Amino acid sequence: MLDLAPDHVADYCYRDNSDRIFLRLLDVYDGLYTSINIIKCLCGNNTFVVYIDPNPTVEIVCKCCLKRISVYDLAYYPAAVKCPKDNDVFSIVHLDSQSEFKVYAIYEYSDDYDNGNDISWCHVYISTDDDLIEIVNDETS
Ligand SMILES: [Zn+2]
Repeated sequence: MLDLAPDHVADYCYRDNSDRIFLRLLDVYDGLYTSINIIKCLCGNNTFVVYIDPNPTVEIVCKCCLKRISVYDLAYYPAAVKCPKDNDVFSIVHLDSQSEFKVYAIYEYSDDYDNGNDISWCHVYISTDDDLIEIVNDETS
């Protein structure tokens, strides 16, 4: 697995082999050019309110210190086809009555990537009390 992530999110990425969802994602996605991450705020909290728009762009807000963290945003990636962002209306992700989630991000790179921003694919998952939901499965380029 690569120890790498896009610059806008790298400070918030960590791995934890005692986290059962992390291990589940590792089982599915582990590879030479894949980076699998749990997102944690610098304040130590790891549950977030999650916002998504149709591009798709994912931003999350720490429920403790209210810091806003970008998890996926095509504007940052050199390989991305940028569409005009005139439809970037964020909606909040709710599942049943739950609106705060742990967030997992998987960034895939090609074998000739230049840096952490040079991703080719992204998956974003959120975990509820008893399930794991994929909210982004996007080929970046
Ligand atoms: Zn925080």
